[in-house]
Amino acid sequence: MSEVRLRFAPSPTGHLHVGGARTALFNWLYARKMGGKFILRIEDTDLQRSTKESEKAIIESLRWCGIDWDEGPDVGGSYGPYRQSERVLKGIYDHYARILIEKQMAYYTVYDKTDRKKPILNTYEYPEEYAQQGYDITVSFKVPEGITRFYDLLKGDMEFQNSTIEDFVMIKSDGFPTYNYAVVIDDYLMRITHVFRGEDHLSNTPKQIMVYNALGWNTPQFMHIPLILGFDRTPLSKRHGATSVEHFRGIGILSRGLMNYLALLGWSVGEEEIFNLREKLGNFEPGGISNKGVVFDPEKLEWVNGKHMRMMEIDELWKEFVGWVQFTGKKMPECDEGYAVKVIGVCREKVNTLSQLYDLSYPFFFDDYVFEDKFVSEYLNAPYAGEVLKKAIEFFTQLSDWSIEGTEKVCRAIADMKIASKNKVFQLLRGSVTGKLVTPGLFETLSILGKDRVVRRLERSIASMGC
Ligand code: GLU
Repeated sequence: MSEVRLRFAPSPTGHLHVGGARTALFNWLYARKMGGKFILRIEDTDLQRSTKESEKAIIESLRWCGIDWDEGPDVGGSYGPYRQSERVLKGIYDHYARILIEKQMAYYTVYDKTDRKKPILNTYEYPEEYAQQGYDITVSFKVPEGITRFYDLLKGDMEFQNSTIEDFVMIKSDGFPTYNYAVVIDDYLMRITHVFRGEDHLSNTPKQIMVYNALGWNTPQFMHIPLILGFDRTPLSKRHGATSVEHFRGIGILSRGLMNYLALLGWSVGEEEIFNLREKLGNFEPGGISNKGVVFDPEKLEWVNGKHMRMMEIDELWKEFVGWVQFTGKKMPECDEGYAVKVIGVCREKVNTLSQLYDLSYPFFFDDYVFEDKFVSEYLNAPYAGEVLKKAIEFFTQLSDWSIEGTEKVCRAIADMKIASKNKVFQLLRGSVTGKLVTPGLFETLSILGKDRVVRRLERSIASMGC
């Protein structure tokens, strides 16, 4: 069998939507499984809606997802994407349009100068005089009579009556091709063997098949994937909340967590829910994707992500954490890696995202944490607080064994003095050294923070009592 070649062809009109990322992922997975090629093509022929910023954002998101491509113009040692706007300049789309016009399978249309939507002439001859006088001229595909059929890997045999499809514009008056035309020319010239894309393109496919047929070209294998839905089972959109890959990156979802979750949407990998996608490449079977709409559940995504955070090597998680802190522009912890790894190790047990990890670990890394209101009102300003904190400073100053057992002994000794209940004492200590009432285990927290930080913080707590 010849090499499989797949592509992802985003229009740069916004951020990379999680649905787009899933489409890219399924194409990429199949290319990788089959040892074939994966191509990125930017479909930027809609000049009004396409922007360079969007292209940059989409490429950045794909890179972050770990979806890499194998071909493209050389941009200093790596591959850039193919861009349809650059291919327009090479005359590629005009060339095939002329062939279709010669075969009388496409024609020129001239439009009225005042009512620019009103056609005044259809012709197979290039309308030179009109062109010179500045009339808008397009090229349209002439839909033949008959029935257009194709086979879809998920939907099976598809059949469309051509009589329900109108002639459609191939080249707009600005000289740029339309999607339904350009996509065929490019998929053919790029020798694409499989086109996996969203179900929203199903109704475009007969138009594309007609262009293939008119040019005498074989069609690729099509698969139209059900769209990702929101909770109300309408296609996932901004109405349901944030949908961009960049957003989920921003709130601290790991690339591997997002890819794992997106793979689960429609593809049952087996019994397991949590996996490293690269290890599951071999299991990917396009025809095995579910033909039902799947609902995007941000909570499940976080759950999957949390599993990955706890499963991965801690130093790897630390690297991810540092990368994410840089990405968000937050304040970077300055400490040695040994300390950082200890902190991350205890904190990751309680969180599902890097952002939650940042918040929970903040008091381990920085002194300028703030006291939660509830801690201040219920514990720090309680009548017993001063006495407990004074004892704590005394005991912790003398403590030499800063193991978990060592700090536990001190905490219990203070509780045994019965100045307040054990729970109150522990919460007061916890809040004093972290500002929070929910943290990793108290004894572990104290053990990691160590003597200097603990004593300094207890003193600061006393100083801020009653404030
Ligand atoms: N540019 C189209 C889109 O973003 C590509 C569809 C296709 O894969 O053919 O929806």
